[in-house]
Amino acid sequence: MSYDDNNIFAKILRGEIPCDKLYEDEYALAFNDLYPKAPVHILVIPRGKYTDIADFSARASAEEIAGFWRMVAKVAEDKELPGEGFRTIANTGVNGGQEVPHFHVHLLGGQALGPMLAQAA
Ligand code: 5GP
Repeated sequence: MSYDDNNIFAKILRGEIPCDKLYEDEYALAFNDLYPKAPVHILVIPRGKYTDIADFSARASAEEIAGFWRMVAKVAEDKELPGEGFRTIANTGVNGGQEVPHFHVHLLGGQALGPMLAQAA
């Protein structure tokens, strides 16, 4: 899949549409999900143009990959999620239900999140 420069997270990165920003550095940006599914629902995205986790893992530099995952961990720590536990999700492609084609990780917490999937296969 080629990268779509008009996806919503590309527009957020360019500052064309607003977001409820929590953290940013040279590698990544963290902001609140507009439609939260849990008391804490944060999205972390790399600054680079990567469509999904496979694209990110294949093409991003070691520094970008480390910077991205360190921000995921930093956000979780700063929101005090590790104590009670939390969930990270990277939806990928059609079966994964990925809506925005810019790689992102959901950080969910603040309550017991229940089973991993809404319904068993
Ligand atoms: P996906 O289904 O691609 O894994 O998740 C995309 C997420 O982006 C969804 O949880 C959705 O609520 C969130 N989202 C969609 N549009 C916007 C937006 O304009 N701003 C923010 N902050 N989140 C958005």
